[in-house]
Amino acid sequence: KLSKRLQTIADRVSAGSRVADIGSDHALLPVYLIQSGQIPSAIAGELNAGPCDAARKQTADAGLTGQISVRQGDGLSVLQPGEADTVTIAGMGGSLMAEILEGGYHSGKLAGVQELVLQPNVGEDIVRRWLVRRGWVLTDEAIIEEDGRIYEVLRAVSVADAEIRNIVVYDLSAVPLQTMDSYVKAGWLYRMGPHLLRKPSGLLMKKWELEHQKLERIRRQVSLSDSPESREKEAALRNEMNQIKEVLACLP
Ligand code: SAM
Repeated sequence: KLSKRLQTIADRVSAGSRVADIGSDHALLPVYLIQSGQIPSAIAGELNAGPCDAARKQTADAGLTGQISVRQGDGLSVLQPGEADTVTIAGMGGSLMAEILEGGYHSGKLAGVQELVLQPNVGEDIVRRWLVRRGWVLTDEAIIEEDGRIYEVLRAVSVADAEIRNIVVYDLSAVPLQTMDSYVKAGWLYRMGPHLLRKPSGLLMKKWELEHQKLERIRRQVSLSDSPESREKEAALRNEMNQIKEVLACLP
């Protein structure tokens, strides 16, 4: 049985896709997707030798060496163009994830990929910005809690068609933050997620209340020293905390 986090990712992979799971570690996700009959084959990419061996062992133990190709290498470099329909990347920071995706964009390894299912541990906004910059459309976002940690899962599809992109841009303005300045609003759409904001859950509230509390702890720490820099930092923290409260107050 998969963890709730990996199951949330698995549930967003289109049936029948050839999947490349990058940073696969024990290859739990590809093994599950094939064993459950959801997908026919997968590539498990790993940068490091240890996790790569773990993926090979898991794949062999499951009797899936014919269906899962385990490959050691950096990011999407392990792929040949056109080999995968779906790329999944989970359990790493958003900036590393965006770097891997950007590398794939420039090397052409993302060409032909139709679907991305991504679970950044932190820095979700960096991933959302990358998606928008490179012409991907966020179709679905999920937020879950497991073992006291809150995770977000983002699903995006590639859209070459600019007209459809316009529809998506329009669509984002329907998020219930009309009272905010549009520049500020855009920043919070990236940080909190347009789909999550449209159907706000208790968990989304909890995540950002925890973030607010964290910033308040930092602010108190900063306020102990009395320098122009610390006053500036404190003002920035206050501003950010006020914005979080403002966004939360906008939600239905
Ligand atoms: N995806 C699995 C999951 O979500 O449970 C494993 C996550 S694990 C915390 C992150 C994995 O990413 C590690 O095994 C690490 O070796 C791998 N990794 C880090 N940077 C990578 C890169 N540039 N390319 C491929 N794999 C990478």
